[in-house]
Amino acid sequence: MTQPPLFAPPAEVVERASELRRLIHEHDIRYYVDARPTVSDRDYDALFAELTAIETSWPDLVTADSPTQRVGGLPISSFASVRHARPMLSLANTYSRSDVEDFDRRVRSLLEGAVPTYTCELKVDGVAMSLTYRDSVLTIAATRGDGEQGDDVTANVRTIRSVPLRLRPSERDGTTISNIEVRGEIYMLNTDFAAINDAMLARDEKPYANPRNLAAGTLKLKDSREVGQRPLQFVAYWMEIDGLRLTSHYESTKLLQNLGFTTGVAVERVETVDGIMAFIDRWEQERHQLPFQIDGIVIKVDSLRHQDELGSVARSPRWAIAYKYEAQKASTTLKDITLQVGRTGVVTPVAELEPVALAGSTIARATLHNEDFVRELGLSIGDTVQVEKGGDVIPKVSAVLNKAQFPTPWSMPTRCPCPRSSTLHHPEGEANTYCVDTLCPWQLRRMLEHFASRDAMDIEGLGEKTIDQFVEAGILTSIADIYTLSHRRADILALERWAEQSVDRLLAAIDASKTQPWPRLLFALGIRHVGEGTAKLLCKAFPSIDALMSAGPQDVATISGIGERTANSVVDYFSEPDNRNLMELLRTAGLSMEMESTPIEHDERFAGKTFVFTGELQTMTRREAEEYVEARGGKTSGSVSKKTHVVVAGPGAGSKQAKAEELGITILTEDEFRAQYADQ
Ligand code: NAD
Repeated sequence: MTQPPLFAPPAEVVERASELRRLIHEHDIRYYVDARPTVSDRDYDALFAELTAIETSWPDLVTADSPTQRVGGLPISSFASVRHARPMLSLANTYSRSDVEDFDRRVRSLLEGAVPTYTCELKVDGVAMSLTYRDSVLTIAATRGDGEQGDDVTANVRTIRSVPLRLRPSERDGTTISNIEVRGEIYMLNTDFAAINDAMLARDEKPYANPRNLAAGTLKLKDSREVGQRPLQFVAYWMEIDGLRLTSHYESTKLLQNLGFTTGVAVERVETVDGIMAFIDRWEQERHQLPFQIDGIVIKVDSLRHQDELGSVARSPRWAIAYKYEAQKASTTLKDITLQVGRTGVVTPVAELEPVALAGSTIARATLHNEDFVRELGLSIGDTVQVEKGGDVIPKVSAVLNKAQFPTPWSMPTRCPCPRSSTLHHPEGEANTYCVDTLCPWQLRRMLEHFASRDAMDIEGLGEKTIDQFVEAGILTSIADIYTLSHRRADILALERWAEQSVDRLLAAIDASKTQPWPRLLFALGIRHVGEGTAKLLCKAFPSIDALMSAGPQDVATISGIGERTANSVVDYFSEPDNRNLMELLRTAGLSMEMESTPIEHDERFAGKTFVFTGELQTMTRREAEEYVEARGGKTSGSVSKKTHVVVAGPGAGSKQAKAEELGITILTEDEFRAQYADQ
């Protein structure tokens, strides 16, 4: 048992816990909402384990909103939300076999002498899904979301062939099974992933890092016809039947098969820890032959009565644990170390490797992060190195296996590899080396790519290849040039691949980006240390570009959640005359550079009222509508309850409208809302 601490936790522990919570939250958004994580699962799990360890030592530090206390996903506002009949939990996970032994010991001790049987199955790396069948027909497919409430993605899931739209007739104890909830994983085969990513690359779109992210991204598409063109698979691993009690997990797996579902390729019942270990060993090897990705295996107590007895803790059941496999490894020769220049000028060493097969693909390059990383590994050119790949497709060099007989030592060059050969800087106390030449063409490319990317200004058609082409041709020399491209039509048409129609499309996408909200623009600028979350915090504190440009480091650093390093970086950025000039050019181009929802006088019509927007709105996005209400003193919510006053329902509104009808809440069309609530 954890001893209550005698002393208050030291300040640095409190600070680290809050930093970890913030980091995990940011990674959760990138992983669950954007389907584009920026760190490997192993690194994420290490942050999570560090936070859990701190909270175990200092229980007072556990906050209600800590990621250790809830399931990580978040519902996405563009879908109707669905409340789960029973929470959809996560799984406790480990990379260590001794933790699996501890799990077995804990289960046995909690069951007070009863002997558990375990079911071992593959942990398919995809997206959790709940399917509800009424009268044998699929009625709702919902994502896990935050565990309590997920997104209604029924239309998209109906396109998946391995999801039965109608249950195969089946009965148990003389009763036909027709009202059930099934849970399982939506995933994508490796070959389909590769084909779709290749096609995305050819269209100059950003590819996904792994099949899981692509599956998650696909489920979020608004047009289910598009989903239908991306083959997704479904594997079922859980079910509950209204009015019927099953006895074991294994039995429910068999029943799922009778009803027409695909269950795991390997589901095995074992009696002992040795049996679990044998299953782990077997799939550690055989997983490479599977046509899809697994990230581990799941061990479950088989008896449903035992499962009930064991119950759950905050975010996961006590009757199951996921054992995750470490990254896959291979050995090869380091042929050279080259440099890559990023958008903020960070210069990254890259390992050029003798091509080697690893986890289904050929690896010839891997990032080496920074000079310290190379030094700590003790890398020299010619060495035999270990490369590894976790759940991500991004490989990394993890160790030197054999020193070269005649090694060529490497140190960070002092000049940028770009044609301008600018001097590189290595700020004291920082791990990174930077090229600070604002005219560096390599930096410019990455900066433009970031600016136009989906999460930033979202300019469709302005991807890596186009940017390379435009920079090379001298058509783009800065971010500001994007907004004067309409004057360069003739120059663009003179380039390969371009025709009137494609230029029109690009210019329209650029025009549309002008209305992106101010926090997005601030993030898109690519200021060092300013990620999406930080950009939002900054814009909240400084609702306009003028306010932000006149802020000093102290003003910025006092914002909760922003540290000194970020504050300095922001102030430095806006003190550069070139950057101030860029802001003027963007302002002249008509970009939005202030918060739209600056507080307006209190409006009685909104006072104390909660509004819910649902369905497809025609004249505004849901977010804009919510900001409109909030700016006038009203409240908004993502779900309908007795506390809701007004539901504004657009076409396609589903469960929320039904609930509002049931509760007798005022339901308005978008036009009616405008008529009653427009500014007077
Ligand atoms: P999880 O993926 O570790 O395990 C729970 C999930 O496993 C279930 O929800 C279910 O969808 C799935 N699953 C697959 N096969 C299963 C089976 N046979 N039986 C039961 N469940 C099965 O947990 P999570 O909460 O979905 O995600 C947390 C994990 O996701 C983290 O541990 C981390 O590895 C990863 N993650 C990574 C990042 C990142 O930035 N890289 C961010 C957030 C989460």
